Amino acid sequence: MIQKRKILLVEDNETHAHLIQRHLRKSKSSDNQVVLATTLLEATQRLSSDDFQAVLLDLSLPDSPIHETLDKVVSKFALAPVIVLTSLNDLDFANRAVQQGAQDYLVKTELNADTLDRAIRYAIERKRAQRQLEEYALELKESNQHLEAFAHTLAHEVRSPLTVVSGSLQVIKDQYADLVDPQTLSLVNDSMIAVSGMTELVESLLEFSQASQSEESSHVELESTFFYVSAIVRPMFEEIDGKLNHDALPTVVGIEAQLRQLLQNLIVNAVKYRREENLIVDVSCQTHDDHWLLSVSDNGRGIAVEDQSKIFEAFTRLENKGPIPGAGIGLAFCKRIVDNHQGKIWVESEIGAGSTFLIRLPNKNEHAE
Ligand code: ADP
Repeated sequence: MIQKRKILLVEDNETHAHLIQRHLRKSKSSDNQVVLATTLLEATQRLSSDDFQAVLLDLSLPDSPIHETLDKVVSKFALAPVIVLTSLNDLDFANRAVQQGAQDYLVKTELNADTLDRAIRYAIERKRAQRQLEEYALELKESNQHLEAFAHTLAHEVRSPLTVVSGSLQVIKDQYADLVDPQTLSLVNDSMIAVSGMTELVESLLEFSQASQSEESSHVELESTFFYVSAIVRPMFEEIDGKLNHDALPTVVGIEAQLRQLLQNLIVNAVKYRREENLIVDVSCQTHDDHWLLSVSDNGRGIAVEDQSKIFEAFTRLENKGPIPGAGIGLAFCKRIVDNHQGKIWVESEIGAGSTFLIRLPNKNEHAE
């Protein structure tokens, strides 16, 4: 079926414009209505008043420097796919244009009716797919925000009645323990354990829903972050005679409070999921040109290969957890923090030998130490 297409041709060279129009008229797949503009001003006026299915754009125009033309068209008129026409057979130049938002480029001297027709069809299709993807991404973002707001409200509302229940149970235990039979007392104890588990879950959910991407990034001295966290976890290590080692840590770019939480969750997990023998935890961070690789390794129980990606999902707990309490949110929280930093988190582990959690953070710090 022959399609009707309205195309804006922006070209100040009369011979080239004539040739391209002739190619467009020859198209077998579509009936092209071509509007010609010879300056950027004329092109932008046309684009604001009319809908075009595609724009063929010569970047070198009398009223616009070559490196500014594309941006002026793409940033203001994002809907129509732009195909750059170049007389330079220069891949770098063309690639730059595509990176800046053009759908494709065509070398004028290599043009014929077929290549032009195909380029326009693909550009329209790519632009349509790109727009659909952007719409989905936006919908997903909005629906995530709603879900977060919901989780936050729910957790917040549940916190107060939980405090009342836990307080009342404590009063019964403290003041009426002598008056009730052992069976009732055991029920009270079980209820207190259940309420404390639920409180932990609610607190984790609240923290989880609060870790947002919008917090400010800054230079974070991981060395100080580590010392802050090690002060919190020191009593746990002293109690079990464990060792918490660290290499000299660099300054990275990130959200301080979130990186602290990340380190803390990973170190606390190493303590929780240790084995009988003495626990050793090592924290280190390598600086690479374009990323940092932070690692927290332990000599604990280890995680089976088939479970290694599952553990980053919320509410997932494994067989290896035994009777250790937890809500199954700690690592989901870590993943969320790493996502907020456009990074990646994974684990390398062997059952019975230990686990190394690795975090790759993009190095946005040009002068990283
Ligand atoms: P929680 O500790 O509350 O269960 P997490 O999300 O922090 O939640 O961890 C999910 C599961 O991953 C844990 O229940 C445990 O089975 C496993 N896990 C986490 N960290 C380790 C570790 N360092 N060594 C072995 N298993 C671990």
